[in-house]
Amino acid sequence: MSSCIPVPLSSDTETRPTPGMRQAIASAEVGDEQTGQDPTVNRLQSQVAELLGKKSALWFPGGTMCNLVAIKAQTQPADAILADWMAHVIRAESAGTALASGVLIEAIATERGIFTAGELEDALDRLAAAPPPYGPPPSLVCVEQTHNFGGGSIWSLDELRAVSRIARRRGLRVHMDGARLLNASVASGVSPAAFCAEVDSVWLDFTKGLGAPIGAVLAGDADFIAQARRFKHAFGGAMRQAGIAAAGCLYALDHHVERLAEDHQHAILLARGLAATRGVRVRTPHPETNIVFFDVTGLGLSNDEFLTRLAAAGVEMGEARGEIRAVTHLDVTRDGIDQALSAVREIARKRH
Ligand SMILES: *Cc1c(COP(=O)(O)O)cnc(C)c1O
Repeated sequence: MSSCIPVPLSSDTETRPTPGMRQAIASAEVGDEQTGQDPTVNRLQSQVAELLGKKSALWFPGGTMCNLVAIKAQTQPADAILADWMAHVIRAESAGTALASGVLIEAIATERGIFTAGELEDALDRLAAAPPPYGPPPSLVCVEQTHNFGGGSIWSLDELRAVSRIARRRGLRVHMDGARLLNASVASGVSPAAFCAEVDSVWLDFTKGLGAPIGAVLAGDADFIAQARRFKHAFGGAMRQAGIAAAGCLYALDHHVERLAEDHQHAILLARGLAATRGVRVRTPHPETNIVFFDVTGLGLSNDEFLTRLAAAGVEMGEARGEIRAVTHLDVTRDGIDQALSAVREIARKRH
């Protein structure tokens, strides 16, 4: 079939640093990050704190450690925390929360990763039905913006406000896994700071659609960040001349935010084309951001068989939650979307 360049739709972590980003990385001013003296890291931290409307921010090697540290810094062992059942923190972090924080996670059932204030209240009532010393005290609510396994779904400002109001009324803090928060902002027109005003802690990933090779930044108030710094150090996340990597993140903030809109357009085109293909069922027919989930059992193929055929046509996708997942990003062009759709149609044509 096609001999085009492979189309890397398996994840938005597949991006390679652009020539401009590599240049920024090569010329980065650096110092000792571990002692707070890397000027490029410090600049990134200030810029992210300002963007998110938080007092303070802290550089991390990646997002998983941001979740690990944020939960550790805001809970006591044997507390309960609440998250939707598909949350990255439950499904994809090797039970780090159990390892580091020793908390129980009360999972909330949702369709697309977004729970309502009523669903949060029900979950809190379930926990409160057995008061201490029987039930664990809840201390933290986790939300994911956008929701990865939910299909790139966005917490609207209203949905977030409603949940945050309940959490605060009940004396809980709110943590946002904002791996793709900027996708949510670009797609909805709501500023990152407006979303973040509803939460106590939040982090951004620079290695997803922002296209940097390394880095995530966690933000919150000064006391929280002081605690976070201690745990980051304890978990081995403190680095030395990390400005090399942070320079790529600063470059991404300047050059790769507005363009996320293009990825969202591409996801819509992909979902539309897939929905029009016989034997393919799209779970996210109207993707809100850059993630498309679909099911190929109607083609009489296992996910592995489908992905192998796709790869032979130069198109890489992945599997998540038992479905096929395609994620758009800056290394996937409009032509790449067309190539992916032709490849899927060709596979489907041979099956019918
Ligand atoms: C990728 C991702 C993470 C983990 O981030 P890493 O930088 O890969 O460690 C956490 N949460 C969500 C929603 C993600 O998509």
